[in-house]
Amino acid sequence: MMAAPNPNSFQNLNGIRSLAQTHQFKVWLLDQFGVLHDGKQPYPGAISTLKQLSNHGAKMVIISNSSRRASTTFDKLKALGFDTSLFLGAITSGELTHQSLLTREDDWFASLGTSCIHITWADRGAISLQGLDLQVVENVDDAHFILAHGTEALGLPSGASLPMELEDLDKILELCASRKIPMLVANPDFVTVEATSLRVMPGTLAAKYEKLGGEVKWMGKPNKIIYKSAIDMAGVEASDCIAVGDSLHHDIKGANTAGIQSAFITSGIHANDLDLGSFGEVANSSSVQDLASRYGAYPTYVLPSFTW
Ligand SMILES: [Mg+2]
Repeated sequence: MMAAPNPNSFQNLNGIRSLAQTHQFKVWLLDQFGVLHDGKQPYPGAISTLKQLSNHGAKMVIISNSSRRASTTFDKLKALGFDTSLFLGAITSGELTHQSLLTREDDWFASLGTSCIHITWADRGAISLQGLDLQVVENVDDAHFILAHGTEALGLPSGASLPMELEDLDKILELCASRKIPMLVANPDFVTVEATSLRVMPGTLAAKYEKLGGEVKWMGKPNKIIYKSAIDMAGVEASDCIAVGDSLHHDIKGANTAGIQSAFITSGIHANDLDLGSFGEVANSSSVQDLASRYGAYPTYVLPSFTW
């Protein structure tokens, strides 16, 4: 049995150099939004830090709560200037969702049905369901389940999408909850960093759906499923890995659940909670302890940013 994690036992680091030099971790499971980039730009030092880490023999896998396929993640990272050849691979919650709907190996997916209410993106670009043999329906009475990829629009049977306000999507969720159909959420994030602001993500809809009494299948972090997939991809044990992320609920609690050590980056989505103004500012240790305890999430290491 592993000892229960102690919220007061984390170690503060200025950068990851000292950790990389120990060669203690063969595989680094990296979150992208809030760690490597803010959706618009790489964070200072992130690109060169990946190179240094690779030079020290680390294998790196991106694990991301993104509703899009894994290949989209690499396209995005390339466009932002990252060298994607440094990564062993990328796993997204959207990819796991796609594969699970495709193979239907799992009992839960095998009995899910094929017609769905599809909540997707509008401005950010709708998600293609091509090849999944699903029927998108508009009438809740015709749906076997809800598929939540986004928070901006309702997918239509034609493949187009109808932009909707969150309040209107809530009304659809209430109808679905009364019919007791399950929700499959392809991105469990509640919010994401987008440049300097936070944006509502599908996890928020899923949390609302659970409050309404609905059943939710959470496909990404903090669920073990994404860590298992990453560990299998790298062909190592959980103890060979370290997970790096900026969300206590998703990245750190997820790592705790999967039995993986973790590094919490304070300059991401918790920057405001920790009263951090500028990039690289060091968070007060007791504030980090309080926040971590509130989330029941216990990092092994704490760093201001993903820098060397
Ligand atoms: Mg993040």
